[in-house]
Amino acid sequence: MYVERIPALLDNYIFLLVDRARQEAVAIDPGEAAPVFDRLKALDCRLSAIFNTHHHHDHIGGTKALMQAFPDLVVYGGVRDRGRLPGQQVFLEGGERLRFADRPIDVLFVPGHTHGHLAYYLPPAPEGDGWGELFSGDVIFGAGCGRLFEGTPAQMLQSIAQLRQLPDTTRIWCAHEYTLGNLAFALTIEPDNEALQQRAIDTRAARSRQEPTVPLDLGQEKQTNPFLRWDSPAIQATLQTTDPVRTFSKLRGKKDLW
Ligand code: ZN
Ligand code: FE
Repeated sequence: MYVERIPALLDNYIFLLVDRARQEAVAIDPGEAAPVFDRLKALDCRLSAIFNTHHHHDHIGGTKALMQAFPDLVVYGGVRDRGRLPGQQVFLEGGERLRFADRPIDVLFVPGHTHGHLAYYLPPAPEGDGWGELFSGDVIFGAGCGRLFEGTPAQMLQSIAQLRQLPDTTRIWCAHEYTLGNLAFALTIEPDNEALQQRAIDTRAARSRQEPTVPLDLGQEKQTNPFLRWDSPAIQATLQTTDPVRTFSKLRGKKDLW
C-alpha cells in the first residue's frame, strides 16, 4: 500500500491509499470527483471506500459522483457528522481500528475545527521505511492549524496535543496547501527560531518550483509550527502567558486577524 496526493479545487489535496496488488483504493476527503476518476483510471483501480475527516464541502463534494460510479463503495465518517456526510454508512467515534490492504488504520477523534472531526493514522509498516502516515484533514496544516469553526481553543489544543504525541517520523497528509502563508505568520510569532527561518527559505524555493509542501514532517512541525509550540518559552514570552490554553487561544486569535 502507498499514498497518492491529488491536487483539487483551489488549494485542497485529496489522498488515495492504493493497493496495487488488489487494484483497489480508498479516497480520503474527496472534495471533487473528476481528479479522483482520472487517477483511478490511470492506476486501473476501483474505489472501495471513502474516509471522511469532516463535513465541509471542500472535503465531501466528490462523494456522490464517486458513489454512482462505484456502487459498492463504503463511506466512513464521524458519528457526530451524521446527516452531513453524503452516503455515510459507517459512524466512527474515534478509537476504532480499521484496515486497508496490509495496514491497520487508527481512527482519532480530534474536534475543534468542527465538532466531529476525525484523523486517520497508519502506524509504520513492519517492512516499510519506518514512517507512519497521518491524515489530519483541517486540524494541522504546514506551520498552522485549522480555524475554530465549531469548537473551542481548549478542544483544539487537546486534539493537536493528541497528534503531537505521535512519533517525529510521521508524515502528515493535511488537506490544504497553506504552508507558505502560514510560515509568514509563524515568523511574526517566533522571529528568532532558526529552524523556522530555514524552513521559510526552503518552502519559498519549493513553492516557486511549484512543488507541494505536503506531506509534512511531524518532527519539523514540532520545531517550527507555533500551534504545536504552546509550551515554547519564546512563544509564551511573546504572548505574555504560560497557560497552554491561553497561549493557544491568543495564537489562533492573532492568526484570525492576520
Ligand atoms: Zn474544513
Ligand atoms: Fe478544508
